[in-house]
Amino acid sequence: MTGLKKRGMLSGAATCKLCRDQGEDADHLFTGCYVAAILWHKVSTWCKIQPIFAFTMKDLLEFHKTQLMEEPKRKYVKTIILATCWSIWKARNEGIFNGKRASIDGIFGEMQANFCGLNAEQRKWILIGGAGQILSFYNGE
Ligand SMILES: [Zn+2]
Repeated sequence: MTGLKKRGMLSGAATCKLCRDQGEDADHLFTGCYVAAILWHKVSTWCKIQPIFAFTMKDLLEFHKTQLMEEPKRKYVKTIILATCWSIWKARNEGIFNGKRASIDGIFGEMQANFCGLNAEQRKWILIGGAGQILSFYNGE
């Protein structure tokens, strides 16, 4: 039994609510789960950056520091990674509390929608800087 389970921080079954296959802990949920792996692939494609390979939460949170990127982009990559973690976390909670099984596209779409809540200057960067799919998102295409 893991320390987290003993302290009651994980539900009794503690099965990952995204894949419903493996045991859940933070590193599985955000990096080890196949759902997370597909999401990070989609994020790196969307941001036009190198594939995001992470084995721990720490790898994710420090990914932007390890890449050669100009400064504005670095900041946005960090923000998008955090927004993706937040969407994964919400999907996980929906699974636990409402029994809903989130789709990968649903999680990714929600992250993009959250990211669209940024201000005009930040959006401009997105459109110019590579994550241009936001444009078609706004146009409802
Ligand atoms: Zn999983």
